[in-house]
Amino acid sequence: MKLLLVNTRLVVIMLVALLLSSPVTLFAQDLSKANVEKVLSDAYNKFKDVKEGANADYIKELATVDPNIFGIALVTVDGQVYTAGDIQSMVSIQSVSKVFTMAKVIEEQGHQSVQDKIGVDATGEVFNSITAVERMRGKEINPLVNPGAIASTSLISGADSSAKWKNVLQVHSDFAGRQLSLNVPVYISEAGDNLRNQAIAHLLLAYGRMYFDPVEATDIYTKQCAINVSAKDAGIMAATLANGGVNPVTKKKVVSPETVMYTLPVMSTAGLYDDSGIWFYNAGVPAKSGVGGCLIAVVPGKFGIAVVSPPLDKAGNSVKGQYAIKYVIEQLKANPYLIQPKQ
Ligand code: GLN
Repeated sequence: MKLLLVNTRLVVIMLVALLLSSPVTLFAQDLSKANVEKVLSDAYNKFKDVKEGANADYIKELATVDPNIFGIALVTVDGQVYTAGDIQSMVSIQSVSKVFTMAKVIEEQGHQSVQDKIGVDATGEVFNSITAVERMRGKEINPLVNPGAIASTSLISGADSSAKWKNVLQVHSDFAGRQLSLNVPVYISEAGDNLRNQAIAHLLLAYGRMYFDPVEATDIYTKQCAINVSAKDAGIMAATLANGGVNPVTKKKVVSPETVMYTLPVMSTAGLYDDSGIWFYNAGVPAKSGVGGCLIAVVPGKFGIAVVSPPLDKAGNSVKGQYAIKYVIEQLKANPYLIQPKQ
């Protein structure tokens, strides 16, 4: 009897010791269906009435898009698609396209080629800055702002303009997992009014940093920006990056894991133009915005998330997009820099 009592006491002491020494999981991630659906619906309700920001209007057609469109899509690397709000309405992808064209160039030519022929440092300037090109004499421009993006488009393989465009549209469609198409009114509206981008392309040509006819390269770039996407399309595109280049819904290998490895850091440092640092400080994940109101973010190895909401802040980034994605990442404890210490 005495022996039994001693043994029980010993077991209790050992259990308490074990409990005290085992690491406490402070940041348990819960990506269960119930939790993700709750977080997305909370994000939608929390931000749906935000009235900050305004549609871009320097491309006339964008000013006419319904500012109340608000949709969120989160797609996991297992291909689960979670949505809240309006995921049917389509907007032009605009600068979010720069990611997929850059990825295609990396895939075709290797990462060194993008570093050497375009550059990968953030310019820290507005997306259509001409002075950034001039200051660097055409070197060290960045594929996620207009000059580097037009240079990227000029590097896409294809014997002529139409072959290059076909290639650009195809890679976007593969990332989205369905055949995407052009928003013709947006394309026509911007093509008739893109002298600034034409000027950038010609300045790059003068510095030997434009790799196709500058007028045609700008035209393909303008078309690429006018590809229509819904929040769901953009969420799947982001998830394909999160999944190392394999579309988690169609299972198609779109680009290699190495291509994704070189793409995400550029999104981290330059995805939200001159506000990229503020975004990365607050959200900790690679992201990319477009002036049509689309914003995507990637939690590597976990999920992609996208928001479509046209009103933009001064830097040209979707206001509700930033609020909603940051909220979801926080609630899901998905910031990769939130580190569980080893005890
Ligand atoms: N097509 C737009 C432009 O070139 C894209 C800009 C953006 O989304 N930031 O001005």
